[in-house]
Amino acid sequence: MHQIWTTVLQAIEAKMSDQNFDVWIRPLRFVSFTGSTLTLMAPNLYHKEWFEDNYKRSLQREILKQAGSEITIEVLVQPPASKAPRDPADSPDPRAAASRVLPTPHGAACRKSSAPVSTSSSSLNDRYRFDSFVVGPSNQFAHAAAELVAKMPGSKYNPLFIYGGTGLGKTHLLQAIGHAVLEKDAARSVTYITAERFMNEFINCLRQGKMEEYRERYRSHCDVLLIDDVQFLAGKDRTQQEFFHTFNALHENKKQIVITSDKFPNQMPELEERLKSRFSWGLIVDILVPELETRVAILKKKAELDSIPLPDDVAHFLASRIRSNVRELEGALIRVAAFSSLQGRSITVEFTQQILQSMLSSGCEQVTIEHIQREVSSYFNIRPKDLKSSRRPRSISFPRQIAMHLCRKLTPASLSEIGRQFGGKDHTTVLSADRKIKALIEQDEATRQSVEALERILTR
Ligand code: ADP
Ligand code: MG
Repeated sequence: MHQIWTTVLQAIEAKMSDQNFDVWIRPLRFVSFTGSTLTLMAPNLYHKEWFEDNYKRSLQREILKQAGSEITIEVLVQPPASKAPRDPADSPDPRAAASRVLPTPHGAACRKSSAPVSTSSSSLNDRYRFDSFVVGPSNQFAHAAAELVAKMPGSKYNPLFIYGGTGLGKTHLLQAIGHAVLEKDAARSVTYITAERFMNEFINCLRQGKMEEYRERYRSHCDVLLIDDVQFLAGKDRTQQEFFHTFNALHENKKQIVITSDKFPNQMPELEERLKSRFSWGLIVDILVPELETRVAILKKKAELDSIPLPDDVAHFLASRIRSNVRELEGALIRVAAFSSLQGRSITVEFTQQILQSMLSSGCEQVTIEHIQREVSSYFNIRPKDLKSSRRPRSISFPRQIAMHLCRKLTPASLSEIGRQFGGKDHTTVLSADRKIKALIEQDEATRQSVEALERILTR
């Protein structure tokens, strides 16, 4: 085991409760440490996600302290072969098939892609392909643009900038482009990298005097650059500069650049103007929260891919309960399937309801209209019932408009449903409130900050 990992383990063990350490940290296995990336292996997907959501950051901080360098932690999922002696998909018992869900390969190391990927730093998840992406009104524009770019990289829409909330499929689409490009022409070099990793590699190469190598890798040996979560670069000035030059070099040579972000370029004040302007040279597309039919279709697709016996009524039930984030929707399905196989029970609405209840109380709560009304009224120090009234003073109408905007953005509720829950307002009132706040976000710093703060509170 690497020295750093042993030291870090000791340091964080002292800081965590024994139980949490035993449950979430000890089972992680050390895989490799390459200087900028520490790779660990989690026993299953659920473990990986829990770790990433709750412990990864503090671990990274600890390593920065111990080793003095910024590193990226990557977590792989233990491949099924070492856990299951036979392939449960061959079994006629549907419960056995569902047990495949836990150790499903999800990490980069488990990919069995036939196509080579250009650099050692890029890796594509085998599951993120166009054929596993469900298209609906919320994402059809982004999907069409992504397919077009994959067909003719560098010749249209350069860069393609995809933005949208967390867990709505940005990374999936981005990697699907990579797969499709490689399927057509395996000789092309496709680089997928998160902005965070781009920065960490940059810093490490800078320290080690290897900038030539770094530039070579991203500027010369790259036909398609897929850069994920670019909002991460906000405020990181030197990395932005480096990225700016990388961007220019690739763009001049007609190499395709695809960028994802959880924010629209203009909503990132700490991003250099010249980068923002370049981001809008090509095409900017958004991905919205999928509506019910699309959520059901996504669940069915996932169930099919993982051989989970998912009855229609359960798919519908899950999709109607978990509305604003596809990743959580998927997580719920995985949990339900895992518990059903562990407890030997079949997947019914009643069973799913039980599992979901424990999930909802463990903090995976969805954003609801009531939730938004509660937080907005406490943020602006007014009474929730004021939001539902028809009172017009700005101290009340402004929070009301913000709340309506957030309902549009964070929940899949229709205009008339939102209007109804705001004391029976007309759908046009909701629409104009939403438009007004969107315009204000662009023009007025204070509004933008309030809306962002509220979004953080609501989605944490
Ligand atoms: P983001 O990068 O926007 O945070 P991801 O691309 O990681 O979101 O998506 C989260 C999960 O939801 C992934 O497992 C992805 O496969 C799945 N997902 C999101 N949208 C779709 C879709 N339209 N069809 C199928 N799966 C989807
Ligand atoms: Mg992502």
